[in-house]
Amino acid sequence: MDNLATYAAHPAQSRGRHHKEDSPSGRNEFQRDRDRIIHSSAFRRLEYKTQVFVNHEGDLFRTRLTHSLEVAQIGRGIARNLRLHEDLVEAVALAHDLGHTPFGHAGQDALNACMKEFGGFEHNLQSLRVVDELEQKYAEFDGLNLTFETREGILKHCSKENARQLGDVGERFLTGKSPSLEAQVANLADEIAYNNHDVDDGLRSGLITLEQLSEVSLFARHLKIVQDQYPGLPRRRLIHETIRRMINAQVTDLCKESANRITALAPASIDDIRANAPLMGFSESMQLEQLELKRFLRANLYKHYRVNRMSHKAVRIVRELFNAFMEDTSIMPDDFQTMAKADKPRAVADYIAGMTDRYASLEHRRLFAVEDHPL
Ligand code: MG
Repeated sequence: MDNLATYAAHPAQSRGRHHKEDSPSGRNEFQRDRDRIIHSSAFRRLEYKTQVFVNHEGDLFRTRLTHSLEVAQIGRGIARNLRLHEDLVEAVALAHDLGHTPFGHAGQDALNACMKEFGGFEHNLQSLRVVDELEQKYAEFDGLNLTFETREGILKHCSKENARQLGDVGERFLTGKSPSLEAQVANLADEIAYNNHDVDDGLRSGLITLEQLSEVSLFARHLKIVQDQYPGLPRRRLIHETIRRMINAQVTDLCKESANRITALAPASIDDIRANAPLMGFSESMQLEQLELKRFLRANLYKHYRVNRMSHKAVRIVRELFNAFMEDTSIMPDDFQTMAKADKPRAVADYIAGMTDRYASLEHRRLFAVEDHPL
């Protein structure tokens, strides 16, 4: 990456890894992080974790894996446009959801409720825990031993209490500093990705309609452009042409607004980025349109009764698994029994959080179905 801005994250000036390692040859430090993330088992499990729709509901819906790939794709485009480090954005994007429980937000809320008296459960913090501790495949360390910059990007938000325990990556939540621009890009690419693909999946599922979406200005504006240019275009093409224009509009707006802010501040290095309020952001009008779209999705898709039904089931599965393992750790796999000796609730939460949707359902059947007893 020859053309890197002075204020981008430069791998040669990385704050480094917890366990010292020789620099990789033929690739940079952030590429190594990205490669380790892709080779982790938590990454492979994203394929069977719910984004909004549960995996068995249809082959075409996004999963956590395809969502993460879309975040990486959007993030890399923005990074290249602003001369930021693409590999770092990609690493953060691919890792940002590693800590998600099965069954999407319903699963996370249920596990958090179960863990209320034991320090809570937060998927973002869990993503960091996965790369710092839970992946156990390297000879010399637990976790993936990623660079500070990738870990900083993964930790999007954090309570002061947790920040105090996290050391280096927790610091900025206590001192009010910002993460690298690459981390900020990955975060916003996440938003752009899910707002758009949830519209697409929502339409595909039939839970929301084109008529309803016509009330959302960002969607309506681009729908009209496509309809005017291609009258009578079949529905599937119409939806895709509209959504790709929405993504493009958001990315273009974000790059332009952020470039203006960067120019105004004239940061000399990543230290200047960290010392200031976050610079990446949409223009005010795009920000308002984003909010309108989010509100629409919350009211009409995420709270749709058919989504609620799945959430309701998910809550019961997570809660019952948690209670069963807390009552008797001997029914957990050996590794987790060992971990439970040090901290029982956390080991149970780690075990459940690592499950895919279908594994959690199967595990629930194994433990609770009397006649049907799959091993
Ligand atoms: Mg995400």
